[in-house]
Amino acid sequence: MLEFKEVTKTFEGSKKPAVNKLNLSIEKGEFVVFIGPSGCGKTTTMKMINRLVEPTDGQILVEGTNVLEQDSVQLRRSIGYVIQQIGLMPHMTVGENISLVGSLLKWSKEKQRERAKELISLVDLPEEYLNRYPHELSGGQQQRIGVLRALAADPPLILMDEPFGALDPITRDGLQEEFKKLQKEVDKTIVFVTHDMDEAIKLADKIVIMNAGEIVQVGSPDEILKHPANEFVEDFIGKDRLLQSRPDVTRVEQIMNANPITVKEERTLKEAIQVMRDNRVDSLLVIDEIGTLKGYIDIEMIDAQYKKRSYVYEAMDTEEYSVHKSDLLRDTMYRMLRRGSAY
Ligand code: ADP
Ligand code: MG
Repeated sequence: MLEFKEVTKTFEGSKKPAVNKLNLSIEKGEFVVFIGPSGCGKTTTMKMINRLVEPTDGQILVEGTNVLEQDSVQLRRSIGYVIQQIGLMPHMTVGENISLVGSLLKWSKEKQRERAKELISLVDLPEEYLNRYPHELSGGQQQRIGVLRALAADPPLILMDEPFGALDPITRDGLQEEFKKLQKEVDKTIVFVTHDMDEAIKLADKIVIMNAGEIVQVGSPDEILKHPANEFVEDFIGKDRLLQSRPDVTRVEQIMNANPITVKEERTLKEAIQVMRDNRVDSLLVIDEIGTLKGYIDIEMIDAQYKKRSYVYEAMDTEEYSVHKSDLLRDTMYRMLRRGSAY
């Protein structure tokens, strides 16, 4: 549906690219959420998709065609766009606002009215609202109309740039639920921008995490929560949510209760097994030659090891380790399990 190939945008007069060598494929029907801190290039990315900004380098393909080569009426028709400042026309009724694209496409008045009725029935608003003016609507209601307006010409792709960002939390929660349901009914490909992780987790099939113009990680909400790629992603997810999504708690507690003994250096697997046998233990803490804790190994891991991959451990300072032994070890284990560098 949508493909980014090495897409870069450097604005005139700035040294660093706002978007840097972006590569990504988005499938038809997917709900993809871009998330990242302010200024990381989310809006620029959206604007390049609908050609409000031209890439400095690389290509964006929508259904196989470079957006720069698409006919502009066709482009407006095939991509819906919803932004935070929804910009309903104040002198037009809700119905007329929804029909804006229809009138550009020269639909008959009758067809425009029918389409507006059909659309408003999709959301939690009575049909009479079609005759109201935008200032007679609450913020949440206006935002719903903005979404309907983007759906009017039935575009296969919809871009939404922080559409619920200006709403109070309760209205936003309601709209997120409503919108997720709506998306299933209309079966669109949605590219959605937010800086709110809760919103991303709630809505996304796929989350794209950006930082400083680059993609840091792509994955389902579950994959990202369980295996954040690095500390930036962990910070972005936030400590509370990370704690809630602790992987395999029983596994970590099992490790903590095993009272592993410590070996001074990394051994080969064969040696590690020998040390365990000699000491009649079934787990080891592995420490390198300068005393840094390299990690943990036990019989179960060794069994799995023969079948699968090698164990990779993160360094941890020994001094700290001896002071807060169990807490630090526990934390390290969680982090390693989450990142998939231990299991
Ligand atoms: P986000 O939407 O993630 O907050 P933006 O895509 O709006 O980020 O901005 C990314 C970077 O590009 C920022 O450093 C911003 O200042 C810069 N930028 C955005 N638009 C322009 C522009 N029209 N001219 C120059 N710089 C811009
Ligand atoms: Mg933005």
